[in-house]
Amino acid sequence: MNEDAIPPDTLAKVQKHLERFHLSLEKLQEVSARLEEDMIRGLGKHTHHRAPVKMLPSFVRATPDGTEKGDFLALDLGGTNFRVLHVRVLEEEQKMLKMDSQICTIPQEIMLGTGEQLFSHIASCLGDFLECQNLKEQILPLGFTFSFPCEQKEIDKSFLIRWTKGFNCSGVEGKDVVKLLREAIHKRGDYDLGSVAMVNDTVGTMMSCGYKDQSCEIGMIIGTGTNACYMEEMKNVERVEGEEGRMCINTEWGGFGDDGSLKDIQTEFDVVVDKTSINPGVHIFEKMISGMYLGEIVRLLLVRLTQDELLFKGQTSEALLSAGRFETKFISDIEETDSGVENTQNILTELGLKWDQVDVHVVHLVCDTISSRSAHLCAAALATVANRIRVNRGLDHLKTTVGVDGTVYRKHPYFSKKLQATVRLLAPDCDITFLVSEDGSGKGAAMVTAVSQRLALQSRL
Ligand code: BGC
Ligand code: MG
Repeated sequence: MNEDAIPPDTLAKVQKHLERFHLSLEKLQEVSARLEEDMIRGLGKHTHHRAPVKMLPSFVRATPDGTEKGDFLALDLGGTNFRVLHVRVLEEEQKMLKMDSQICTIPQEIMLGTGEQLFSHIASCLGDFLECQNLKEQILPLGFTFSFPCEQKEIDKSFLIRWTKGFNCSGVEGKDVVKLLREAIHKRGDYDLGSVAMVNDTVGTMMSCGYKDQSCEIGMIIGTGTNACYMEEMKNVERVEGEEGRMCINTEWGGFGDDGSLKDIQTEFDVVVDKTSINPGVHIFEKMISGMYLGEIVRLLLVRLTQDELLFKGQTSEALLSAGRFETKFISDIEETDSGVENTQNILTELGLKWDQVDVHVVHLVCDTISSRSAHLCAAALATVANRIRVNRGLDHLKTTVGVDGTVYRKHPYFSKKLQATVRLLAPDCDITFLVSEDGSGKGAAMVTAVSQRLALQSRL
């Protein structure tokens, strides 16, 4: 598909609407510099309270060394699916095996219900799984991937700061999530858990890749939400006692811009997406990047272009006018190399629109613009993190690996390429290998639990 298929005067008018989504390299450098300042604020003892980028200590102090082993349970909450897993870590073969797993659905009523309902639902899914696997009598350690910002006090004490993405259960913010889970399980009384390790999905992703590649010190998610974690020097983690070694920091970069620092790049469409979300005013950066929001940005643009008679001869449809009806997945389908044109035609027909060939090209251009901006902004943020690690270690050149996961990164045909190319421009002194995590939220959580057991054992020796 190409822009030549669009008549020049139409193209010029369409581009006028899209120009604010094109960010120059200088602009991205500026964004990266701002994020760096915010990361420093988030780490500071006296500045972190009001910092939009929270820089949360994870209490993960080491990446895997290959001697971990044992059987673990894992829970994964906060991505596209809620899952329960049984994972075995084998020392001899340096392997992690997923023994079994099960996807459970979380109905919308529960996502927006009470915390008690949520945790009793989780406890019952876990109970059913243990029953099926004949594991109810064993007391296994659990890695709990909970993909929301948490103020962690210990590896098994983790207070929810706020819900993000589609969740909004009452009575959980400010509470210890591990405690809520244990209470829900005790209420049932038919099974129990061993030690629990709480993990953000970024941390799980880093740890699952760290098992294969020991230079993996960054974890990144670009899925329903977006975020990254990395290994920071303990001396810079002012909120946690100790100067020696490193700790994994969950940046919560999705909150970048919550103090208004991204006003210059927010478009009127971003403002509407934020205002109509279930958590207005928070996670501004995430709302420009992640899968929960990209489809909606595209939809709003298509509506505007139609109203300006630049699409569909000025005729909208009920579907196009309905919030949420343009799915983020459509963007990937539309940008597909071989089947893109056909996919676009089918999607537009599905949405009840009368299209011609020019419309198909304009819609493609809109999708490409929005997914590219997302990739560019992520690249700016990742470059900031990589550069920070490099400077922390006093290196002229850093070679590192980032473990990545998330539906946008995995499923979009060009997203990863664009992101990688832009990071190279923004962090020329960092040589970054990208490793797509194999089930980070499941196996990674088990790995965090395994590493924390190994460390506990070593400290007893
Ligand atoms: C959450 C993060 C999470 C990210 C990706 C964000 O909304 O705040 O904790 O890592 O989504 O799932
Ligand atoms: Mg996930």
